[in-house]
Amino acid sequence: METVDIAIIGGGPAGLTAALYAARARTRTVVFESGLPGGQIVTTERVENYPGFPEGITGPEIGELMHRQAERFGAEFRTFTPIERIEPSDLDFVLTTAEGDKVLAHAVILATGAVPKRLDVPGEAEYTGRGVSWCATCDGAFFRDKVVAVIGGGDAAVEEAMFLTKFASKVYLVHRRDELRATKCIQEQCFANEKIEMRWSRVVTEIIGEDGKVAAIRLASTKGEPEEVLPVDGVFEFVGVEPQSALVKDLCDLDEHGYVKVDHNGLTSYPGLYAAGDVTDSELKQVITAAAKGASAAFEAVKWIDERLCRVS
Ligand code: NAP
Repeated sequence: METVDIAIIGGGPAGLTAALYAARARTRTVVFESGLPGGQIVTTERVENYPGFPEGITGPEIGELMHRQAERFGAEFRTFTPIERIEPSDLDFVLTTAEGDKVLAHAVILATGAVPKRLDVPGEAEYTGRGVSWCATCDGAFFRDKVVAVIGGGDAAVEEAMFLTKFASKVYLVHRRDELRATKCIQEQCFANEKIEMRWSRVVTEIIGEDGKVAAIRLASTKGEPEEVLPVDGVFEFVGVEPQSALVKDLCDLDEHGYVKVDHNGLTSYPGLYAAGDVTDSELKQVITAAAKGASAAFEAVKWIDERLCRVS
């Protein structure tokens, strides 16, 4: 069986930074990624709050730079290679890929991130890819001069609503309360944008289609106002994310929302198993915190295997 020092599962900012630190510490580090490196950040049009880029940087660019930097120090990448199982084997771990290949790792860093939640309303499944989307960067250009609705009130919804105004003639921002959750500075930019119209205190109860694509959304009021059918060409859902922690649910402690519990060094409740980034229970979910936690987890993982395998004199 192939043996590696550190297996990193997930190639977003947490996994890529962990790979950079682990490979630079001269360990054999392999990143397993179910798609291409970059993670959720590649679906973000612009990152304005990552230090060192005063004019901002696109999500795909930052992902690509982090990937190149980790590779430069010798990290290996297995793209389109999802891991299906992690099993302890003495103090090591055996990882099984979707194709059935097995890899022995002395330490594992889980950096699988989170995936967007769905509204789970009638019409959503039927019109996915026909007007319903979770990625403005990917699909925004299909809505040039059209009317779209963005659902949610957090940073993602508000930032992506602003991005969509580059294409759409009008963007409705539908939020279930009368106050946004998003950071104040992002809110100010949103309220100053003339193409964005707020639909406060409303929830989507149905996505209505016509001729095989989205035509409208049905909105119910959370304040007893009459129901409304809003004609739109597209619906972008940004109602939060769910941690991708299923791989380790029987190995280490998760919190009540499924986030992996870690100590301040990224160690889970299982020795040799670390986690970093959006899959963990850390409060601030940003590129910079994911990167920082990835670095800490790699530092600790390297120390753990060096001590265990007596590589340090
Ligand atoms: P989030 O902060 O959890 O916000 C989710 C939003 O969706 C909330 O406004 C919530 O309403 C609403 N919502 C949840 N379930 C809903 C439902 N069933 N129907 C209607 N609305 C629903 O999620 P996020 O915006 O995806 O952000 C995730 C994390 O990434 C956050 O920590 C965020 O700060 C971070 N992030 C940061 C940036 C940045 O700094 N530039 C950009 C993107 C994301 P309530 O407000 O009523 O709960």
